[in-house]
Formats: sequence, structure tokens, C-alpha cells
Amino acid sequence: MTTESSFACPVCNTPNMQVFVSIPQVPVHANLLWSARDDALNAAKGDIELGYCHHCGHMYNVAFDPATMQYTQAYENSLHFSPRFQAYAEALAQGLIDRYDLRHKEIVETGSGQGDFLRLLCDLGDNRGWGFDSAYVPSQADMEDERLTFVQGFDWWNSIEQVPDMFYTRHVLEHIETPQPFVQVIREKIGERPDTLVFFEMPNMAYTLRALAIWDIIYEHCSYYTAHSLACLFERTGFKVLRTDETYAGQFLTIEAYPTAMEAAVSDCGTAVDLSLISEQVDAFAVEFNQKVTEWQNRLTVWQREGKKVVAWGAGSKGVSFLNILKTQDQIEYIIDINPRKEGKFVVGSGQQIVPPTFLADYQPDIVILMNPIYKDEIRGMMAEMGVTAEYFVA
Ligand SMILES: [Zn+2]
Repeated sequence: MTTESSFACPVCNTPNMQVFVSIPQVPVHANLLWSARDDALNAAKGDIELGYCHHCGHMYNVAFDPATMQYTQAYENSLHFSPRFQAYAEALAQGLIDRYDLRHKEIVETGSGQGDFLRLLCDLGDNRGWGFDSAYVPSQADMEDERLTFVQGFDWWNSIEQVPDMFYTRHVLEHIETPQPFVQVIREKIGERPDTLVFFEMPNMAYTLRALAIWDIIYEHCSYYTAHSLACLFERTGFKVLRTDETYAGQFLTIEAYPTAMEAAVSDCGTAVDLSLISEQVDAFAVEFNQKVTEWQNRLTVWQREGKKVVAWGAGSKGVSFLNILKTQDQIEYIIDINPRKEGKFVVGSGQQIVPPTFLADYQPDIVILMNPIYKDEIRGMMAEMGVTAEYFVA
């Protein structure tokens, strides 16, 4: 069941996005950890009304309120600790360097965090980098590295005189509620220079739809891009798209583009493309979302009635979505996470305490709900060693 909204698509301006998924009252910051349960329960919440644009294939939370976002960048880059992610980042950087001969060049990133990827581009291609991020924390090593400059802010054009050879952002665009002016400013600042490479990376909504990954929808991400809506955004704002790609096993979407003359900007990019597959997937996702939520609510109610002890495993944003969407405050008391920095903290919105795996030896849960099936065997093995005999489910 979809309903027409009065909201126009932020990418192509087509009116009346179709709302296909409604999720009331989820935490606006899924990854904030709280030291007191009451604070976690009382943290700010907002509604998700996911709208679909039939013209360009874009999806957007039409109920998103930008005023709720005070520190969107503060906790986004923790993936860099994973070896798999590190290997991916290196291959991505090397691919860009080879495709565009990015050697001895000048590179600008906004939303650079602590500069992990920028450092990689500079190491591998002997480049000079400027990173802009209001959440950047200065370090001695960075100050001694002459190739790298970090600025606490976002407006690169105020800090450097020359137009760079490459400009990029990663995992920023999905947080931007008005993407057209955001990309337009970049185009304007590049000016007459035709060979500045522009690169963006973000979550891939086509993957979320295909994998029916319903717990991936979070409030901080107001915009959900498919390859087509992303290309559309760039074509409308004065860029020639060189390549879009699905990376990181399909979970991320990337775009590489050069500026074109502003007169060449395409005003309508929806007509020539067949969106029937993505439209079907949107419909299937809506059905799956409602079914999965009902199924889980029924299951949890039965377990509660039977007095079963239920824990969830994996306190990332997926776990936070699961616990909040299903309103599990009274049904699940604990969530397990191996990250020691999360230990003892409380899940935003739903208030479960985060505990380490060893906690379960005493607690002896009846049911363990895994947020990520990849770790199923590993976790069962670990639990068996501790003498825990629980039933396992995948969220
Ligand atoms: Zn659109």
C-alpha cells in the first residue's frame, strides 16, 4: 500500500513522492550510546515516511526534519577498524589512482573524518590532500605530515586557492536533505576547470531493496540513492557521469564524474530509463517490511508469554533499528556486542543494556537473535564452549 505525499523529489523535483514504508518514532541518532537507561529511552525520535520517485528512482524520508541533526558526522567511520573494510578501501583508492592517473596531484575531501581514506590516496599516489570535517580531532602525526592538511569545517573553497585535481566525499550525501544545491556548489567552485575528478560514495539502496534488508533504513540517512537517481543528480547539476559502480559486495554505490559546461546540464533525466525493476522491488520491499515486522512482533509476544529469556546480538545501527521498530523494551533485556567501548551502555530509544558475550554464561538465554548471519557459526561455537544452549534466529 503506497500513499501519495505532497513532497517533491529532492533529486529531480517531480512532485508527489509515493510513501511505501512508514516507521513511526525511531531514534534520530542510531549510533549514540547512553550511560543511563532513562536518557537512552528519552533520546530524540523522529518518523520515517520513505517516499519513492517514479521518475528518477530516488527514495527519501519525506518526514525528515533536518533540525534534529546536530552532529551527523561524529560517528560514521568506525568501519575502518575492520580488515575486510580496510582491504576494500585500499583497492578503491588504487583503482581511482590508476583510472585517472592521480599521482602528484592535489585532492580535497569534505567529511573526511580522521582522514583514513585521504591518507591512503596520498600514500599510494604520492598526492597532497586537504581534508575538511568539523568533527576532525587534530593529531601530532598529521601536523608533521607535510602532504596532509586538515581543516575543521566544510567549505574547502574558503581555505585553498587552487581548484583541486580531485574532489570527493564518502558517506555524506545520504545525510544531505537538499542534494541539488549541495552538488551545485561543488560544480560552481570547480568553475572552468574541465578535468577535476569528482567522486562520491554512499550506501546503495538497490542493494537494500534486493536483499530486503529492512533494518538498514535509519533516520540519519534521509536520502537513499540508486545508480540512476545518483547519475540524475549529477547530470542536472553540470556533470558528465563517467562511471557508477556497486562496491563492497554491492552495499555501496559510487560515482565518478567530470564537470561539463553549465549549459549542458540536463534538466530532465528520467524519461529514457526503465525503472520497472526498481519499482517492483520497492513494492516487494514494502510488503516484506510489514510482514517481517508482524512476524517478529508475534514471535516476541509468544516468547514473552512463555517467559523465555531473549537476547539480541550486534549493537550496530541494524540492531538499534530492530529493537526500536519492534518496540522490544519489555521483551528483550540485553543486547550482546564484542566491542568493549559499548559495554554497559544502553541502546538509544529502546533502552537495552549492551553486555559482552561472557555475560551469557550466567544469564543463560533461551533465544539469541543475530543481527548478522555471517557470524552464526562462530557465535554458536563460542556459546557452546560457555555451556549456553539457546535457540538461534536471524533478524
Ligand atoms: Zn526524482
